[in-house]
Amino acid sequence: MRAVVVGAGVGGLAAAARLAASGHAVTLLEAAPVVGGKLGRFERDGFSFDTGPSLLTMPKVFEDLFHDTGGWPSDLRLTRLEPLIRHRFTDGTSFDSGARVRANLEAWSPGAGDDWAAFLDRAQRIWAASRKPFLESALHGSRTLASLTLRHPGDLATLAPGRTLRDLGRRHLRDPRLRMVLDRYATYTGSDPRRAPAALAAVPWVEHAYGGWWVEGGLYRLAESLLDRCVELGVEVQLGRRVTRVAPPLVTCEDGELPADVVVSDTDAAHLYRDLVQCPPATRRLARATPSLSGFVLMLALRGQTPGLAHHTVLFGDDYDAEMDAVFGDLPAQDPAVYLSRPPGAAPDGHESLFVLVNAPRHGPVDWHGQPGYADHVLDVMARRGVDVRDRVLWREVVTPADLEQRTGAVGGAIYGTSSNGPVAAFLRPANRSPVPGLFLVGGSSHPGGGLPLVALSAQIVSGLIGSA
Ligand SMILES: Cc1cc2nc3c(=O)[nH]c(=O)nc-3n(C[C@H](O)[C@H](O)[C@H](O)COP(=O)(O)OP(=O)(O)OC[C@H]3O[C@@H](n4cnc5c(N)ncnc54)[C@H](O)[C@@H]3O)c2cc1C
Repeated sequence: MRAVVVGAGVGGLAAAARLAASGHAVTLLEAAPVVGGKLGRFERDGFSFDTGPSLLTMPKVFEDLFHDTGGWPSDLRLTRLEPLIRHRFTDGTSFDSGARVRANLEAWSPGAGDDWAAFLDRAQRIWAASRKPFLESALHGSRTLASLTLRHPGDLATLAPGRTLRDLGRRHLRDPRLRMVLDRYATYTGSDPRRAPAALAAVPWVEHAYGGWWVEGGLYRLAESLLDRCVELGVEVQLGRRVTRVAPPLVTCEDGELPADVVVSDTDAAHLYRDLVQCPPATRRLARATPSLSGFVLMLALRGQTPGLAHHTVLFGDDYDAEMDAVFGDLPAQDPAVYLSRPPGAAPDGHESLFVLVNAPRHGPVDWHGQPGYADHVLDVMARRGVDVRDRVLWREVVTPADLEQRTGAVGGAIYGTSSNGPVAAFLRPANRSPVPGLFLVGGSSHPGGGLPLVALSAQIVSGLIGSA
């Protein structure tokens, strides 16, 4: 069959590789001059930055992807990070997650290690119950939940559909700072821990069990390797080709039309259903979901080395609720948690590339063009939390939600499409098989969700739905 994949983000690249490996004739159309989408790279004066993802989890998903399409690339090397994440608090204390997390937690706050171990035990059961039906299969709306209720009633109790991630933290964790650590995992899906389901406890479990990984040379190497794989398999990759209309068996670009027996869209589902295809039921469904958060990124080229940082460090504030109220209330947070990434080998000797990310409301509700001072504000927040780099900045590059929208087509710069806010959020997320015959969806805004591994899983699900040529 002739398959046209729209968008060369990780989902599009993975779908194109899988479909080509299954014998389809695949054309991959990407509006930007480069592949990768949100998985981007920025280089200047010997400094290199991953502009989006900096942490890879569930590497097995990528092992499977490369294995199924021809084998692991010899020049792609993953490193397991130890420590995984350094968590720093405004009282001056910190602890590292990773292999020694339990002992580290006990030393940091007596009882916290035991609490976290008990929490992980529950999280592991949540992961086991949710993995197959919710992550590795196409979702069939409430039918998925109903079949779970009938076949594995215990699993439904484990998932506790009515409970939030915050509820779970309150139940298992006594130290309010540790509750804040758990809360932050909701933002891995662009969500609010007070509204996101307890099932998101699977995220810290997965990180704990399978580790957090870095790709040597930067995470963008993943996009490059996927592109190489597509080319090896005969995928016709066309960059700088923006699709304007999707109506299988036809795909229309700004400069012509292509025949397509099947179309796989890796664009933001909100862009697809608003701009590219007529599908009122899908549009209505999407309107019922809360869009995910965006992010505000600072890439700092620094003189010297910043003491006290791990590869990944989070500088927590005091009031996570105030941050969530702000960003979900369409205001930039005044005292946000600040996420820092400092990968090795990404800067000239005696210098460092520091990637800074904070949660941010989407562009549209907030006019990010009108927030020129926010980068300085974030630098001031970091300085108050003990990471004052202001006098060592050689240059800086800012990526606002408006920039993210412009560069990747994510409506409002929402990183994950729809958020997981609310008990039925998973069922409002656009399905991999659209109601339009011949049109399938992959990528972070469709099922099973955002983040590199889930995006790659969406491609696996879709290639399974389409089948071999
Ligand atoms: C700042 C930031 C930090 C992140 N951190 C992490 C992390 O640490 N770990 C992690 O796992 N994930 C992280 N993520 C999430 C992860 O990057 C995404 O979930 C994933 O890369 C999305 O892939 P995708 O397949 O949905 O495609 P996208 O990356 O959304 O790409 C879609 C592609 O479609 C193209 N396109 C759009 N419209 C059209 C059109 N009309 N015609 C043709 N092409 C079109 C776009 O140009 C783009 O290339 C982060 C994201 C951001 C932004």
